Amino acid sequence: MTDNTRDILPVIENENENRYLYSLKKMADQNMNANLSYLTGLPNLRAFFYQAAEIMRANRDHTFALLVLDIAHFKALNEFCGWDAGDKLLVYISEYLKTYEGPMTAMFHFRADCFGLLVPFENKDELTAIAQNICAKIEAYPIAYRVLPSVGICIATGPEMPISALRDYATMALQTIKGKFYAKYAFFDESMRQQMLLEKQIENEILDALSTDQLQAYIQPKVDMSTGDIIGGEALIRWIHPEKGIISPGLFLPVLEKNGLIIDVDFHIWTKVFAWLSKRLKAGQKAVPISVNISRMHFFDNAFREKLVMLSAEYNVPPPLVALELTESAFLNNADSIYDNLQQLRSLGFALSMDDFGTGYSSMTMLKNQPVDEIKIDKGFIDDIEDDQEQIIVSSIVNMLKALNKRIVVEGVETQAQRNFLLEQNCLHAQGFLYYKPMPISEFEALLDRDS
Ligand code: C2E
Ligand code: MG
Ligand code: MG
Repeated sequence: MTDNTRDILPVIENENENRYLYSLKKMADQNMNANLSYLTGLPNLRAFFYQAAEIMRANRDHTFALLVLDIAHFKALNEFCGWDAGDKLLVYISEYLKTYEGPMTAMFHFRADCFGLLVPFENKDELTAIAQNICAKIEAYPIAYRVLPSVGICIATGPEMPISALRDYATMALQTIKGKFYAKYAFFDESMRQQMLLEKQIENEILDALSTDQLQAYIQPKVDMSTGDIIGGEALIRWIHPEKGIISPGLFLPVLEKNGLIIDVDFHIWTKVFAWLSKRLKAGQKAVPISVNISRMHFFDNAFREKLVMLSAEYNVPPPLVALELTESAFLNNADSIYDNLQQLRSLGFALSMDDFGTGYSSMTMLKNQPVDEIKIDKGFIDDIEDDQEQIIVSSIVNMLKALNKRIVVEGVETQAQRNFLLEQNCLHAQGFLYYKPMPISEFEALLDRDS
């Protein structure tokens, strides 16, 4: 290689690179056209991800934030005012967003009513102002419908932050306020991130927990307070985590309800209960009815009823040995199919138990139409049983439930005073720490064997 060529080579390389970059850009531009919303002309998410990443990386000395905008009940607005009117509103919003167009901004329009705006900023107040302006502009739109915009904001941690994460976090912030007329915008913050990490972790670990038998059924005995006899039990899930120890359902069930895994997890617990009852029955040992909890999510599972019927047949356990606990609000869902499913299960012999009675919106008159055998009075009703007013309320509830011929179980009995008061009301059945805490099945078994 001569000195001459050494001088020339880099030039040729540059030319090639330029050509290469040019064709990439051209491809991207062409793609961009295919990636614009036909209605508003704003880039779709894919195009936005590309543009936003480019902008953030090319302007490393700036801080960026993403604002994600959504209209509450936009579908209803479409129905109410017509799709044309809905489309016009979307175009109006996009026109306003376009006023922010510049070399360091990017925006998107995704699905019907979801918009995003990436902007550089110096002071958080600038972001608040943008969010407020967007909302004010939208609320001022002349339409015969109350338009409720909300904005979620996430500040980028740096130029390399993946745009997908930025969008996820801004959306998460948005979810915390969506549809609330008193809150227009929310910043993504650390607690939301922690919550999200926790949810992701639970999602990642739960399948493993299922397959390695970390999800156990504990049982809390139900007792007859007049004799102290164990008359049944309630199966309560416990996650026996190899590192974290025992995790309470309050921590992980809400996540499973969100992602639908509760369907599998509940089935796992029911199976354990049927298997245990079956074992006791086969061995000719004492068995008492065990309640299982049924998440509302099962109403979206077509196989819900068959699963319970199948378990009863497979394990040869008569349905009266298994009671189904559903929260009050689940009963109040008046879809016919749900009502039919419950009614059929009941006619097969499963007892239906209304859990957490008094925490929802049911009234006594509603109760008379419900296919319910047992009512579990929520702990909240007896927490301050020394209080006169509370005594009046509890005794009236107990009397009315008795008149309606419902079995009553009082949850969360912790003190002798509560016990005495309930016994005075001739309310005998309870579940509470005064008697027993939830325990592993083996301990429950030992209790039953001791009693028999
Ligand atoms: P729940 O069905 O109302 O169960 C009663 C809860 O009250 C249990 O909490 C129990 O440990 C607690 N408890 C009972 N007596 C006392 C007492 O005297 N004092 C106090 N402070 N608490 C008492 P746990 O086990 O944490 O379960 C919480 C909720 O999680 C349950 O409320 C139920 O809604 C749900 N859950 C538990 N296991 C399952 C399951 O396998 N599937 C479904 N879908 N939900 C479950
Ligand atoms: Mg329960
Ligand atoms: Mg309860």
